[in-house]
Amino acid sequence: MDDCIFCKIVRKEIPAEIVYEDDSFLAFLDIHPQGAGHTQVIPKEHIHWVWDVPNVGTYFEIARKVALAQRQAFNTDWILSKIVGDEVPHAHIWVYPNKNIADDIDDIKGNAKKIRKVIA
Ligand SMILES: [Zn+2]
Repeated sequence: MDDCIFCKIVRKEIPAEIVYEDDSFLAFLDIHPQGAGHTQVIPKEHIHWVWDVPNVGTYFEIARKVALAQRQAFNTDWILSKIVGDEVPHAHIWVYPNKNIADDIDDIKGNAKKIRKVIA
């Protein structure tokens, strides 16, 4: 979709701190983080709702991969995730550590680096 911000990130028209990418999915840091390393996991195809993503099992495996990397990167067991769907009309799963960790929430570049270092 031409004017969709997440599609623009998929096409690399807008820069983003990407922590995971394969043929069908992309994970990148949110520019308004709710916690250090707050990541959005999206399908590359423009699909509005998470529940309409055809390979939703794989999708959730990737969200889990991000969560496990965040646990290690930010030394916490407590990773939140959220599916809302009204902010951007392109499916996305929020994955982010709780706010009470020491890392700087606004250091998006640095936090992306920490996730990339440990993501499986
Ligand atoms: Zn889109």
